[in-house]
Amino acid sequence: MDQPQASPWLRNYPGEVAPEAEIPDLAIGDLLLQAAAKYPANEALRFFGKRTTYKELLAAAQRMAAGLQAAGVGKGDRVAIMLPNCPQTVVSYFGVLLAGAVVVMTNPLYVERELEHQLKDSGAVAIVTLDMLYPRLARVRGDVPEEGPVPQLRKVIVTSIQDGLPFPKNLLYPFKQYRSGQQPNVPYGMDGVTRYASFLTKAPKLPSEVRIDPAEVALLQYTGGTTGVAKGVMLTHRSMLANAAQCAAWFYRMQEGKERFLAALPLFHVFGLTVIMNLSVFKAGSIVLLPRFEIATVLQTIRDEKPSIFPGAPTMYVALLNHPDVKKYDLSSIQVCISGSAPLPLEVQTQFERLSGGRLIEGYGLTEAAPVTHANPLWTKRKIGTIGLPLPGTQAKVVDMVTGEELPPGSIGELLIKGPQVMQGYWNKPEATAAALQDGWLRTGDLAQIDRDGFFTIVDRIKDIIIAGGFNIYPREVEEVLYEHPGVRDAAVIGVKDPYRGETVKAFIVLRKDVNVSSMQLDRWCRERLAVFKVPHLYEFRDELPMTMIGKVLRRKLQEEEERAASGN
Ligand code: AMP
Repeated sequence: MDQPQASPWLRNYPGEVAPEAEIPDLAIGDLLLQAAAKYPANEALRFFGKRTTYKELLAAAQRMAAGLQAAGVGKGDRVAIMLPNCPQTVVSYFGVLLAGAVVVMTNPLYVERELEHQLKDSGAVAIVTLDMLYPRLARVRGDVPEEGPVPQLRKVIVTSIQDGLPFPKNLLYPFKQYRSGQQPNVPYGMDGVTRYASFLTKAPKLPSEVRIDPAEVALLQYTGGTTGVAKGVMLTHRSMLANAAQCAAWFYRMQEGKERFLAALPLFHVFGLTVIMNLSVFKAGSIVLLPRFEIATVLQTIRDEKPSIFPGAPTMYVALLNHPDVKKYDLSSIQVCISGSAPLPLEVQTQFERLSGGRLIEGYGLTEAAPVTHANPLWTKRKIGTIGLPLPGTQAKVVDMVTGEELPPGSIGELLIKGPQVMQGYWNKPEATAAALQDGWLRTGDLAQIDRDGFFTIVDRIKDIIIAGGFNIYPREVEEVLYEHPGVRDAAVIGVKDPYRGETVKAFIVLRKDVNVSSMQLDRWCRERLAVFKVPHLYEFRDELPMTMIGKVLRRKLQEEEERAASGN
């Protein structure tokens, strides 16, 4: 396809090879210190018209760090951040790291059960969250927090979306509760609950210096891994910095101090965290923050704020393409889109490139690798439909799943990764760590194939996860919730193809004898117990489910039946 020739991003440079990734021996917080020292007046963040410079971002993060230290949070302590994308997310992230503590990114869609597991498992001593999300946290803590399920969580810093906006009452508030004027009831001053704004104002200006070895853990990022039980992936300062440096080396035409990243992906997900937050600060870029993916707002934001880099999940590009008014918006500021977390359909890639005039490349990664391990080249030959080549400093091989022997090009086997971005292990889970990391190689649980030019293709995933709209869903977890319903005898959950979300959740249900339960009742049941993205979209009631000899439901058989039905055979 013809590409406009004006931008250096969009030309081809056939013989070029991406440089090696230089990984500075720094902690993540140092990236912000460096950017603020070099470009104090440059814009670091944009949020609905409010601009924050690097100097201001650093000052706020340092106050957050100092405030945490004053509250007794120190080196190695875990601090949860449960926020949508807003300036407070970035301030809190760097603040926690500058205090020497460990960030625990928490999905704001989590319901009590999921939140409780993560707070308990990580042992978080503090949390930064949004007033709108507070009631859920309060229910987890219980009436007497010191005696509840998370007694170690002493400090709760609560912000309001307004704290990140220029004027308290202007603009369209991104949350409908704010628009309706509904105010959440937060007991400031009690049970360790503090207002974000006064927490920062009252904090000392500077934190006391903490020596951080880059080999120390900086982030616990929760993922289901292969077993369906959410585990904390331990990513060190070095592994996160390595991945930012590797991405920067891959996109070597990125200009320091000049790029503008669209943060439509959530920063609480490792993809957004590395490829937007860390990479932008590493290159002293600016982050255009969007608290949620609302298509019209995304289009307006691209038109008005003119981001040059737009990392996203395939579903985002699909959603934009399908918007009826998409052609009315000028999207020409976009130079490059990086798609990851699920396969990128070919038509989406070509159509989106035609629409924006930018380049859309597919990459691949997983939480355990901080996350990016592969990407298609931007300026030399790329291969659509593949995940591209390993990033600089990354080794990748395909092995036989049984023997572990390396396979030649063309054979299908499990994809293994070695590189500086690979995790240290799973938090407090030595057995799971030993199963995932063998001789320094990370087992991805994905089936892949290499071609003769060294390009990798993901064939399928071994693990049973369903990926809907870029979110991982563990069938077992959804099944467990369904099994808890008194009317349900058997339940099996699979992912079925969905043109918009990539996959969607389908539940097969066998009801108890003489019980009448509707799909609407099950839907309500699931919504109360699961984050909305995990709730099944489709239900099928059956008299029985295919079982193995030991009574395990054969999900694969259901999957095959579904695929047969979809293809009409
Ligand atoms: P997460 O740990 O949430 O980042 O999920 C990682 C998983 O997403 C990988 O193990 C893959 O199964 C899947 N994934 C990521 N990128 C791609 C891609 N480009 N194509 C297919 N699957 C992908």
